[in-house]
Amino acid sequence: MTPHDPAEARSKARHRIEAAVVDLMAETYGQQAIATRPIFPGALSHDRVADPLPGLWAAKLLAALARAEIGRQARHAREAGHTWHEIGQALELPDDDHRALSEAAFEYLTEAGYGDPSFTWRCPDLACGQLILDYGPYNGHPDDCERGHATACERHGRELAAWHDERED
Ligand SMILES: [Zn+2]
Repeated sequence: MTPHDPAEARSKARHRIEAAVVDLMAETYGQQAIATRPIFPGALSHDRVADPLPGLWAAKLLAALARAEIGRQARHAREAGHTWHEIGQALELPDDDHRALSEAAFEYLTEAGYGDPSFTWRCPDLACGQLILDYGPYNGHPDDCERGHATACERHGRELAAWHDERED
């Protein structure tokens, strides 16, 4: 799924971010941190602009929170049953010969730390409702890819059945 007009979406997002920086500054530093300036030299209309140094702080905070929002959306996508490949497509990650798109998506969403990277989401209540540690799309046994499902989880049961089917063909 891609926007109807990517350039327009980008332009709208840019305006919202600029406005969010100014609003955040006004709310945390007060109106004295906001100046106005003509939208172009000699124009009667004015833009609200942030003082640049606190503006840097506000922009960095918004960037960090936007990055966290990617993780939240990905968690919802996994909970809804979307694959790592679909998440990679939605993120428009490069699909190269060296690495599957699904693996690129998993690695984009997890940070290397101690031990094997994992991504956490909650299995829907209609399935088993358990917190799942997702070890990524590396084609292992479903019990190794996703740990935490209840024994009777129907969603995980379907994945196990599909895994066995693939090996019988
Ligand atoms: Zn489950």
